[in-house]
Amino acid sequence: MVRRAAFDCIWKAGVAGRRELGSMTALADEAIDRAIAELVSAGAAELDSGGAVVATAGLSGRATARTRHSLSMSGRRFHTWCAIDAIGIPAGVHESATALTRCGACRTAIEVKLAMGKVVSPEGPTAWCPASVCDNTIEGFCPYANLFCSEEHLSTWWLDAGSPRGDALMLWEVAVLGKAIWGEMSAYVGPVPSRRLSEN
Ligand SMILES: [Zn+2]
Repeated sequence: MVRRAAFDCIWKAGVAGRRELGSMTALADEAIDRAIAELVSAGAAELDSGGAVVATAGLSGRATARTRHSLSMSGRRFHTWCAIDAIGIPAGVHESATALTRCGACRTAIEVKLAMGKVVSPEGPTAWCPASVCDNTIEGFCPYANLFCSEEHLSTWWLDAGSPRGDALMLWEVAVLGKAIWGEMSAYVGPVPSRRLSEN
């Protein structure tokens, strides 16, 4: 509940203060603090120096050193923790967006456009979704969840990385994954027009 409320605040204002989270969830301050601490220790939220949530569920209102992935959506610019976030978030919440990332092998810029949650850029780039069962999303999953400009570059990286377990995904498959991961956010983020509901 706190994670969804924080995602909503970051979406709308780039930051989720504890007071807003309290009024949105009707939870006591201690419960909010406990929930935030659990998210942070799981690598599922980031705070600013004042303790406000500036990133959760892959969506960040702030640039950090690790974010080479960004997202233009709803007239705002966000950063994301990984390439799967950058495509999966707009797919999950049925938004039009431009995701920008860099090839995990050669660092070439890759742009992926989505229209109302559907990928409209040509297939070609390939995503890597790590199979890691980790206890810290930001540190254990996100660094490896990248887009590659071609299957060849994915193979090059994969061999160099010691053949880690995971799946190569096409862009539309990342969108499907995004609907499964962030779909629950779409019921929460702002008013949902009826035409969007009919697409579900
Ligand atoms: Zn490349």
